[in-house]
Amino acid sequence: MLREPVSSVVDPTAGGMSGNTGRYEKRLSDLAGLYADEAAFKEQLFSTADPVVYDVEDFKPGTQGGDLIYGVTRMNPGRIGNEFFLTRGHIHAKADRPEIYYGQSGHGLMQLESPEGETRIVEIKPLTICYVPPFWIHRSVNIGTEDLVMVFVYPSDSGQDYGIIEASNGMRHRVTAAADGGWSLVENTAYEPRSADSARTIMKTYA
Ligand code: MN
Repeated sequence: MLREPVSSVVDPTAGGMSGNTGRYEKRLSDLAGLYADEAAFKEQLFSTADPVVYDVEDFKPGTQGGDLIYGVTRMNPGRIGNEFFLTRGHIHAKADRPEIYYGQSGHGLMQLESPEGETRIVEIKPLTICYVPPFWIHRSVNIGTEDLVMVFVYPSDSGQDYGIIEASNGMRHRVTAAADGGWSLVENTAYEPRSADSARTIMKTYA
């Protein structure tokens, strides 16, 4: 089917874009269980009006292979205890599908984890392009003092599997505030590595 060309205008500071076909947002309460410091999470939840922590606007032409979904994601600055605000994170349901993120404003990290549990960090500032290769679990983290806004693009048939992170009790590392004002990685003590078998199953290629 022949589609008509589409354009969207991105708001690089407030997030969002024109021409979107969808929008969703995650409030603080939606992110229960992601952070190490449960007491700090509860305290923040009770002392605020359950703010929106991140929102996403996207354009989805469909879900068939060979097409693309694109959009804009925006995330508040903030911390739960020592740990920076982050997105829930996922691997693509078709795990060999890649993704591009393009920094618009703010200062963030893309935290990536391989099926075998290796961590990689890509720092994202305005105009940074981050390539998330096939098979990497990924989440974004706002390490700055302003909203983190990024454009993203991924194949339409990628899908998202959020359960992979839950199944291992989170990602292997947590991104925490360092004494010098920067960030550091600390081990997630609850992390359960995937078996070699399940890592291999993820790495199998899709038609
Ligand atoms: Mn993705």
